[in-house]
Amino acid sequence: MSDKFDVIVIGAGPGGYVAAIRAAQLGLKTACVEKWVDGKGAPLLGGTCLNVGCIPSKALLESTHQFHNAQHADVHGIQVGGDVTMDVKAMVARKDKIVTNLTGGIAGLFKANGVTLLAGKGKLLANKRVEVTAADGAATVYDAENVILASGSVPVEIPPAPLTEGLILDNEGALNIDETPKRLGVIGAGVIGLEMGSVWARLGTEVTVLEAMDSFLAMADKDVAKEAAKLYKKQKLDIKLGARCTGTEIIDGKEVKVKYSDANGDQELVVDKLIVAVGRRPQTNGLLADDSGVKLDERGFIFVDGQCRTEAPGVYAIGDSVRGPMLAHKASEEGIMVADIIAGHHAQMNYDVIPSIIYTHPELAWVGKTEQELKAEGVDIKVGKFPFAASGRAMAANDTDGFVKMIADAETDRILGVHMVGGIASELIAQAAIAMEFSSTAEDLQLTVFAHPTVSEAVHEAALAVDGHAIHMANRRKRK
Ligand code: FAD
Ligand code: AMP
Repeated sequence: MSDKFDVIVIGAGPGGYVAAIRAAQLGLKTACVEKWVDGKGAPLLGGTCLNVGCIPSKALLESTHQFHNAQHADVHGIQVGGDVTMDVKAMVARKDKIVTNLTGGIAGLFKANGVTLLAGKGKLLANKRVEVTAADGAATVYDAENVILASGSVPVEIPPAPLTEGLILDNEGALNIDETPKRLGVIGAGVIGLEMGSVWARLGTEVTVLEAMDSFLAMADKDVAKEAAKLYKKQKLDIKLGARCTGTEIIDGKEVKVKYSDANGDQELVVDKLIVAVGRRPQTNGLLADDSGVKLDERGFIFVDGQCRTEAPGVYAIGDSVRGPMLAHKASEEGIMVADIIAGHHAQMNYDVIPSIIYTHPELAWVGKTEQELKAEGVDIKVGKFPFAASGRAMAANDTDGFVKMIADAETDRILGVHMVGGIASELIAQAAIAMEFSSTAEDLQLTVFAHPTVSEAVHEAALAVDGHAIHMANRRKRK
């Protein structure tokens, strides 16, 4: 049997499901292929992000943050009486419920928008034909005018730490630990490693993070990385830099001996659970027939141009399986761009303004270029920085760690980067992204009226500080 669609999307993660919904909204006959199934064989939509990524990790971070706040409620004069305890199984069950609600919601959105769900593994054949192999092995081939590949990514595994049920875990296993380990090891001080380490450190676990690189958070502005390192240390996250995992050994089926090497030679660490969080790689296994016409780049990502076109006409690729940051919102925006292009609209995504966030507490968030990048490029910049310790609203919330740092071009005043450490930096960074998307200058934000008292005022003050005009702190001499 053959059926023809205007658009077939392979993969229903935040790249694929968003592309499919947008394409259908634009009047295109659209299908979305998804291979992931739940324990009962029903298709699971939402990809990594909803099932084992962004959403479940944030659910656990929120629960443990609330636990931490309850433990420290006495700062507000609240007496909870007795020890505050965490029912970890209930916490995990709550996380699972959120995931089920959201993934089920996508099935509803597909229905509402008229997207046909094709359950099974998709393979791109020559001439924009897509073969879908269902769980029972039955294969059906569909024709499409356009195909969008949105197959996402999978965790990188490293030979020294092979996944071992219940003991050595990837991000999926890490989200299902259902009792508080006494000792936890994490390999990789990247976004996922730090977020998962935080969850358990808040519940009292001794957390050791091994990071092969000598520098901490190399992708972040140095001020952000420095402040984060200081705060994580206070939170008893033991982050060992220049520490490369070289091997693991399971002891009596219940502990993991982690071997690593650092500047002092070979070291060992014994933990109850080990999370491997050393990055993710594109998922293209079995996705492309030899004659599909789509090419991979030297790192295994699907090769695309600036508008996500592959080498095969009418075939696009988006999200984690192509170059660029592995972020859900980047995947979704690429999905929207591609659906718009297919529908004949002009569309171009601004890759210079993609916010990055690490959801520890405080949160780290940034958009645009770092001070170090701009200096290396020889751009003449001016920098304004405002601490949350000077924000009345942050004081009221007992959440005064961190700062907002704004960098503007010294000549044009245009905002080039904003970097934050702060309680709700993940929300505040949207203000910076909007400003940068509209090519704002620091003065534009200086002239904007911010409500008082809000933590957002720190963004206003940082903009004022760019020109040495912050009101609620003593201004340092302007830096050139
Ligand atoms: P995916 O979400 O990986 O989806 C791809 C889908 O395609 C999957 O459902 C897969 O089953 C399906 N598929 C693959 N091949 C085939 C095939 N041949 N046939 C049919 N179906 C196929 N990002 C953020 O922006 N914010 C966060 O807070 C955040 N937190 C994260 C936390 C963790 C623990 C992890 C692991 C990731 C996190 N990410 C976060 C990253 C985010 O999850 C990814 O960037 C995002 O999911 C990428 O979307 P995608 O659609 O490209 O791919
Ligand atoms: P991210 O890609 O942001 O998830 O970060 C993954 C981190 O894991 C990187 O900072 C890597 O340097 C680190 N890493 C990779 N392999 C090892 C290893 N064998 N031991 C320790 N850290 C590692």
